[in-house]
Amino acid sequence: MLTIVMYHYVRDLARTRFPEIRGLSTHRFEGQLDYLTKHYTVCRPDEVVAAVQGDTVLPPNACLLTFDDGLKDHYTTVFPRLEERGIAAVFCPAVRPVQEHTVLDVHMIHFVLASVHDPRRLVDEVLSLVEAHRSAVALPDPLTLYRMGAGPGRFDSPDVTFLKRLLQRVLPPRVRADICRALFQRYVSADLPSFAEELYMDLAQLRCLARYGMAIGGHGYGHDWLESLAPAEQREDIRQTMSLLEAVIGRRPTNWIMSYPYGSYSKHTLDLLQEAGCAVGLTTRVGLVPDLSSPLELARLDTNDLPCAGDAPLSEWTKRGREPVEAGAAQPR
Ligand SMILES: [Zn+2]
Repeated sequence: MLTIVMYHYVRDLARTRFPEIRGLSTHRFEGQLDYLTKHYTVCRPDEVVAAVQGDTVLPPNACLLTFDDGLKDHYTTVFPRLEERGIAAVFCPAVRPVQEHTVLDVHMIHFVLASVHDPRRLVDEVLSLVEAHRSAVALPDPLTLYRMGAGPGRFDSPDVTFLKRLLQRVLPPRVRADICRALFQRYVSADLPSFAEELYMDLAQLRCLARYGMAIGGHGYGHDWLESLAPAEQREDIRQTMSLLEAVIGRRPTNWIMSYPYGSYSKHTLDLLQEAGCAVGLTTRVGLVPDLSSPLELARLDTNDLPCAGDAPLSEWTKRGREPVEAGAAQPR
């Protein structure tokens, strides 16, 4: 049984310009590392790749740490704390921020939400911005938009869940991008290159992580929903993803790791990745990995699913990870 943990922002929130960002504090991150090293064997990414290929067997209570989005937090906060504990992990940056020094829509939304205290006000504002696009683009009526964006989220309030769904998925890509940029410029910053510089790792920092034994994985070009891209666009996305990895490690990537942006992929994505020599695919499906028979579709836990203190009692997920695996058993939910 393998437990894969997914991280995004890890920062001393109270001492940043955006204390409302939904992230893990440095203190809690350290506590979680204490918990994980006490109850799990934290594996190196190359051990997991070797196990996928049948070259080795993972130890009991195996665990793998994964950090999505190429955030600078991962260089300044995460990396030194992993390095001092002798832990190697997987870091998956998207290509566009590194190459174009711009902020991804997915992150614009987070910083807008962290800057506006009343999400209801943002809902109204987004809906009125949607109306402004209506003459140029065919869009669902407001009630249908509400229905498409409504429903419980895992960690967010209904208003925030609605905003994220609308701006990450429901609206057409061009409209989403326009609205995200308008809100970001109004509430956060008009200077995208400087903000990107603060937010993301650059190529030299990624190379440094790789030199210290960290695995650099793919996370797509522009953080798009891969399943919604046309086959040729998916191929191009994966080509760009691999060329960033090549720029980081200095050779053509082989047996590499892919983390699907938003957890989105299709059967076609899996075929393309297989062809491209990708060995491990990280999804956002919540669960443990009972075996490595579908290595391109591995489930993960969110950091919020596990305790953040070395002396915390064993969590449900930790207990489940220790139960014997029955053949064909369903994933615990
Ligand atoms: Zn991501």
